[in-house]
Amino acid sequence: MERLREVPVGALPPARLTPVIGAERAARFEEMAGQARRILGGRVVMNVNSTAVGGGVAEMLQTLLGYLRGAGLDARWTVLGGNPDFFTITKRIHNRIHGSPGDGGALGAGENEIFRTTTTENAAELLAMVERGDFVLLHDPQTAGLVEPLKQAGAIVAWRSHIGCDEPNEWSEAAWEFLRPYLADVDAYVFSREGYAPSWLDRARLWIIPPSIDPFAPKNVPLPQRTISRILAYTGVLRGDVVSTPIHFERRDGTVGRLDRHADILQTGPPPPNDAPLVVQVSRWDRLKDMQGVMESFAAHVAGATSAHLLLVGPNVSGVTDDPEGGLVLRECMERWQQLPHSRRSRIHLACIPTADVDENAVIVNAIQRHATIVTQKSLAEGFGLTVAEAMWKRRPVVASRVGGISDQITHGENGILVDDPSDLATFGDALRGILADPAAARRLGRNAALQARDFFLGDRHLSQYAEMIASLLGGEIEPNPPPHRRPGGTKRRPPGPSPDVTQP
Ligand code: UDP
Repeated sequence: MERLREVPVGALPPARLTPVIGAERAARFEEMAGQARRILGGRVVMNVNSTAVGGGVAEMLQTLLGYLRGAGLDARWTVLGGNPDFFTITKRIHNRIHGSPGDGGALGAGENEIFRTTTTENAAELLAMVERGDFVLLHDPQTAGLVEPLKQAGAIVAWRSHIGCDEPNEWSEAAWEFLRPYLADVDAYVFSREGYAPSWLDRARLWIIPPSIDPFAPKNVPLPQRTISRILAYTGVLRGDVVSTPIHFERRDGTVGRLDRHADILQTGPPPPNDAPLVVQVSRWDRLKDMQGVMESFAAHVAGATSAHLLLVGPNVSGVTDDPEGGLVLRECMERWQQLPHSRRSRIHLACIPTADVDENAVIVNAIQRHATIVTQKSLAEGFGLTVAEAMWKRRPVVASRVGGISDQITHGENGILVDDPSDLATFGDALRGILADPAAARRLGRNAALQARDFFLGDRHLSQYAEMIASLLGGEIEPNPPPHRRPGGTKRRPPGPSPDVTQP
């Protein structure tokens, strides 16, 4: 079994957000960070999740913890270890919390035994790094078993679920019943949406904190058009001249990286030309992301009626250790692709992006998202789509399912398009065709999307909410940041602030 390991986190200066969020908001953020530092008084803020690469939680921790360190807090990150049996069980729980049966296996005494044993082994390693009074933020079901040993050691423990489902069903109830005993002693529960918290959960300990993206991460930083084209040609995602000069990019820690790896791509012939309209979905190979549904919808309703190509992008499946279903879901997509008629297949490209170097992976995804004519997220369930926030920040028109957190992120017709029923392939295809045929509407949606992302999806809002929670658990008090003038899906009024153009190419 892999062991618990610490992920190095470099410090990032919070002040670099100022050109994006404006001086007033930046000053509030700085003030809040100072108060949090005083209240924590040198205690460690330990985060635990189950992977350092792939998926939204890893993506966020990479930068959020950097800002905390930059603000003078001792924020750390560890990734728990487990064997394939453990991750099969936790993936089962993950699917069920989303309301889906997953692999249909049991969640009984045997699974409890594996879950508890793995956690106990991880706790033994973790407790070497956590002292009485430290604050520990545990992420997602994999970490639930750590609550008890951490509480016994005197830590203050918050447990965060990044997932949930709109309509509880027998599957989600069963998964929550499995986790419930492990979560009894948690000091605070954090959910991205209130509706995701199970009904039995103590509301007095509940905090609602949506995720965020970082505009300066390799995933989101502005890239010159020429660099985008070069990255896409080099990785093999788009046709173009592969020049021999190396392609460099800036890593999270400010050092220079070089693009070394190519993507694995399944396609009939050469990649699409640089000027072909490109519909893109970037997701883990997870059934709930419904990559296959995007392919079916595109093949049946878009490919024949437009000149667009579809690019389905996911991680290299060996790279995400906590996601045992990835290989299977990718294989199913490939098999279905092979069955499509040649005229459809030749417009659909399946790409696996290398994950060996997380910054390299990020800059490739960045270039793909920036090049996309439309970004889709046709999920069947979604906690909060970071991919949606990333595309909105990049001014892309997004076509997504009206599920879970996505319905908070996008206001239909204003800053993106929501399709009510994710299984309705024709309506999804209509939405794609509509935007492909109307570039002016696409630009308007993209502009509004970037404003929405600036106002609600950035790290200062996210960290301020964490700070309020930590202060309240440690008996201190933090001046809450004024609530945003408009919460996603709420009434319209935009706070003053610089336009996202400040950091957009
Ligand atoms: N992602 C990535 N490379 C990939 C596929 C996904 O970097 O090949 C990233 C994606 O850009 C996003 C995150 O993984 O930042 C996925 O987060 P999201 O909230 O959309 O879904 P999750 O995977 O957490 O369910």
